[in-house]
Amino acid sequence: MKLLFDFHIHTALSPCGQNEMTPNNIVNMALLNDLDVIAVTDHNACDNVKAVMEVAQQLDLLVVPGMEVETKEEIHVVCLFESLEACTQLQKQIQSKMQVINGKDVFGEQLIMNSQDEIVGKISNLLTQSSGISISSLKKMVDELDGVFIPAHIDRPSYSIIANLGMIPDNIAIFNLEISRYAKLDEYKKLFPEYRILQSSDSHELGHIGICKQSIEVENRTIQDVIKFLKTLPK
Ligand SMILES: [Zn+2]
Ligand SMILES: [Zn+2]
Repeated sequence: MKLLFDFHIHTALSPCGQNEMTPNNIVNMALLNDLDVIAVTDHNACDNVKAVMEVAQQLDLLVVPGMEVETKEEIHVVCLFESLEACTQLQKQIQSKMQVINGKDVFGEQLIMNSQDEIVGKISNLLTQSSGISISSLKKMVDELDGVFIPAHIDRPSYSIIANLGMIPDNIAIFNLEISRYAKLDEYKKLFPEYRILQSSDSHELGHIGICKQSIEVENRTIQDVIKFLKTLPK
């Protein structure tokens, strides 16, 4: 079956994410845009994934646990997992390597919310920073947790694997590449024929959720099947 996806959505936990990016708002916006599956991908953290999953549980929407990690090379990578436990495990490993930088809300608040959209916590250490972990080490960590490794917004002039490395290293087994919402999907499919090109919104505000209309083909409507699909070699 076809699943319309958006695998890159920030919540109010990301300093650059607007405070309107609450669990209920995100889920409702995704449903309004006929999405079947979304991934919650905050910078170097996944504290709001649980609440979004809880809101979506009784509804017609799959929520894939995820995180957008910034590597030592300042490359953003969307990491997706079958379970919240695996995602939380990566968060622990990433945050143990991060520096203590008190953002003092200058870059925006970093809010943790529950499934009623109530603020239940705040993170003071700035999440938008390099994790200090190299791209190859991050790939190993994600592999060990059976996750999916997707270099983010490769069309952008900064924080992207192409901009920062000038190429996609061939010593790392990468199957998927993400392009941002304004890039031309056909163009990137032609440029990188050996990869699966995924276009997601990288939403930091509600209006961008579901702006890209791309789907994947899976057997069953489950998170397991979504992850399984992304882990197979593209045809
Ligand atoms: Zn990014
Ligand atoms: Zn992002």
